[in-house]
Amino acid sequence: MRTLLRALGALGGVGLILLGVAVARTLALKTPEAVTAPAMTVEAPSADTLAQHLAQAVRFGTVSWSDTLPPNVPALDSLHQWMVKTFPRVHATLKVEKIEESWLYTWEGSDSRAAPVLLMAHLDVVPVEKGSEGTWKHPPFSGDIAEGYVWGRGTLDDKVNAVAELEAIEGLLAKGLTPKRTVLLAFGHNEEVLGSGARAIAKALEQRGVRLDLVIDEGGALADSVFPGLAKPTAVVGIAEKGYQSIELIVKGAGGHSSQPPDETAAGVLAAAVARVQAAQLPSRFTGPTEAMLDGMAPHMGFGLKLAMHNRWLFGPVLTAQLLKSPASAAMLRTTTAPTMLSGSPKDNVLPLTARAVINFRILPGETRETVKQHVVEAVHDDRVQVAFTGIGSDPSPVSDVTSEEYDALQRTIREITPAAVVVPYLVIGGTDSRHYSALSRNVFRFSPTHVSASDLKRAHGTDERVAVNNLPDLVRFYSRLVQNVAINIK
Ligand SMILES: [Zn+2]
Repeated sequence: MRTLLRALGALGGVGLILLGVAVARTLALKTPEAVTAPAMTVEAPSADTLAQHLAQAVRFGTVSWSDTLPPNVPALDSLHQWMVKTFPRVHATLKVEKIEESWLYTWEGSDSRAAPVLLMAHLDVVPVEKGSEGTWKHPPFSGDIAEGYVWGRGTLDDKVNAVAELEAIEGLLAKGLTPKRTVLLAFGHNEEVLGSGARAIAKALEQRGVRLDLVIDEGGALADSVFPGLAKPTAVVGIAEKGYQSIELIVKGAGGHSSQPPDETAAGVLAAAVARVQAAQLPSRFTGPTEAMLDGMAPHMGFGLKLAMHNRWLFGPVLTAQLLKSPASAAMLRTTTAPTMLSGSPKDNVLPLTARAVINFRILPGETRETVKQHVVEAVHDDRVQVAFTGIGSDPSPVSDVTSEEYDALQRTIREITPAAVVVPYLVIGGTDSRHYSALSRNVFRFSPTHVSASDLKRAHGTDERVAVNNLPDLVRFYSRLVQNVAINIK
């Protein structure tokens, strides 16, 4: 900011005018009245009951080891048996289909012309990193309830959502409610590896000619003090997610003994190519979802940040420079470049026949896997280096519309349950199963009202994953209210 003010100062009168315009625009920016959504009384089981249920679900070690290993069928089956036993009304009323090892539930609506809504979650979890088991405060599959939390792998990612969705439907059934619009639940069994289960469910729905009014999946949360300068809980709703592609660089060598090396070995050529790709970062820019997030947050910030965020026409470069300093915010501004794997000769005195590197890219909306590959070829600029896709990738998802009725209903539901929340759209920098449903709906949103702090973000996929017990009733209330708003209380 200081640099910019100095630059404006150097411009003299013109600089002062520009700054004056920015200040005036900022002063005119009003904090939007929290859209009047009266906090709703929505019933939910007690926090203790919900904690017990989540703890039980966590104890089934439904680990997805890798995309080349089969799913853990016995654990997935046991978890499903538990679901049948724990949510009897759901299983007596809804149609349940097994697709691969994933589950699709259909709660038939009375209006067959209304497009269904889909609530998603995944039942698998990532492995616990070898050697880290002993460092967990509570063993990763213990499902211990202690210190106000349910502990264990999968509590946050993502069993809490599967359980809360089932609790919500069970509760609505107990009250004798029935939907006008069909409600679908889709529980993937391998989101953490490839998501083939979700893809198969999406394909089955597509073959049946189903269009979805609304899709809700993981990927957003209630962020507590995650954003500097924003004190209120921020409901970040993912309206798009980045694409994914790994690219391999391969250099062939002549092999031979390292006592008589050529000027450049395959490993040396490869290393230089990787360094060039890493130095040629893809350009940073504000995409639609990130602009919408900054616009949504600006009115709630202190004056300095408000000034910069609301006047990106003037402060854009400063803001960009600031955001690029942290890997988490940089990931929202550009396609990220991460060299991850390297291999050469198997022995120190043997020249490599082949040297190989893998670089993982997370692709910003507006770019594609092909444009990224083209960028890599240009950055490498060396015919000795072969550049090719490796593994399965995906282009960035489409961006969902925040002016839609469906986004409005979601926003209203969030505020009915958490009236203090600032609701903002954002770009999900990881991947979720919901990308497989892009072709079936224009309204794919990634959000669940789990409170997360900066430390919780490291716990998902890390050590000491946990969910606060007192957060659980609100999760059930949210799904219950959402189903009422979008599928039951409709014209
Ligand atoms: Zn997940």
